[in-house]
Amino acid sequence: MTEHSDTADICDEVKKLCAQFPGAYWRELDRERSYPTAFVNALTEAGFLSVLIPEEYGGSGLPLSAAAAILETIQASGCNGSACHAQVYMMGTILRHGGAAMKQAYLPQIATGALRLQAFGVTEPGSGTDTTALRTTARRDGDDFVVNGQKIWTSRAEHSDLMLLLARTTPRDEVRKKTDGLSTFLVDMREAVGRGLTIRPIRTMMNHNTCEVFFDNLRVPAENLVGEEGKGFRYILDGMNAERLLIAAECIGDGFWFTEKSVAYAKERQVFGRPIGQNQGVSFPIARAYAQLQAARLMVREGCRRYEAGENAGEQANIAKMLAAEASWACAEVCVQTHGGFGFAEEYDVERKFRETRLYQVAPISTNLILSYVAEHVLGLPRSY
Ligand SMILES: Cc1cc2nc3c(=O)[nH]c(=O)nc-3n(C[C@H](O)[C@H](O)[C@H](O)COP(=O)(O)OP(=O)(O)OC[C@H]3O[C@@H](n4cnc5c(N)ncnc54)[C@H](O)[C@@H]3O)c2cc1C
Repeated sequence: MTEHSDTADICDEVKKLCAQFPGAYWRELDRERSYPTAFVNALTEAGFLSVLIPEEYGGSGLPLSAAAAILETIQASGCNGSACHAQVYMMGTILRHGGAAMKQAYLPQIATGALRLQAFGVTEPGSGTDTTALRTTARRDGDDFVVNGQKIWTSRAEHSDLMLLLARTTPRDEVRKKTDGLSTFLVDMREAVGRGLTIRPIRTMMNHNTCEVFFDNLRVPAENLVGEEGKGFRYILDGMNAERLLIAAECIGDGFWFTEKSVAYAKERQVFGRPIGQNQGVSFPIARAYAQLQAARLMVREGCRRYEAGENAGEQANIAKMLAAEASWACAEVCVQTHGGFGFAEEYDVERKFRETRLYQVAPISTNLILSYVAEHVLGLPRSY
């Protein structure tokens, strides 16, 4: 379980920070379904959430692999970066497509953490994975756009100042391609809640602060349109490879955490007068899941390498996300089995992490949709939908 030599120092710092947030901290939050404010503040103050923001805007301008190493280390330490991982990468849309005034107005404040941009309003109850079928509309009215509709699974909406919103600005039957006519907005939620914006948390199997969000004639200033009207879908797609690689890195971190737990318990637990790990029926599944994890990690690294070199990383980012999510799940499953009954006891943290890591085979993209990408875009098989 070695780190890249070029990110080893940063990982050491992350580990030290995470050590201040042990299992008991996460267990209590999980019970209450509360937000890990102290943990997120500590990461923000240490500058770990702004590593991808260029130095000219107050970030540290590090490559994607550094952000991946940070998120992997957070998860491997038993913490949960899902409370704030979007703060690391969502600003990429502003950076790549926002105008100079927007970048200057928001990026430095996102870099310091004064502004949190970690709510992503894409999924809707009626459209699901079929994003271009979304029904939320933004209609131009003078200097504003007026937004109506609903989003679902908007994570961290209650703990974000800004939301990146995808809405339809031209009806689907008036555009040539269904991917046209969608636009991206930066919505200032601080001003909007109670004035056209309603947020309703959804209780889920893990502590994730994910929400339903309702828009009722919400006025968004036209200057908050990101880039050009009608090109929002492409802007969102542009950010997907980075997001996939970073989520994959988190899965790898989870996998290491589970493996370490499994190994420690298998050495320590004595049954029939010997450590359970002496039985190959116990040690082989741990070793197999670990092998799966290391292979997935190589794909994450290759995806980051291509991304950083400016090459197309679509294939690698998608495959890395799928393999890493499957590997973390394999490690989780083995960890529960290795712990026997104690795998179900809250105080071991295994059951909590088990619930948390399951998400990544569904969100931010489900495994079937990755397979469908690989089949169509990599292998040239006929489009399935
Ligand atoms: C905890 C959580 C947090 C989330 N956070 C966010 C967020 O912050 N912002 C946001 O916008 N979204 C978020 N999401 C939404 C997430 O991205 C979607 O749940 C995910 O993309 C799957 O979409 P869906 O739930 O609508 O499933 P559906 O699209 O309804 O699909 C259901 C199942 O059918 C399969 N399926 C559908 N179509 C096909 C096909 N053509 N071929 C094969 N299989 C198919 C899917 O793979 C899936 O397994 C979150 C979801 C969860 C659960």
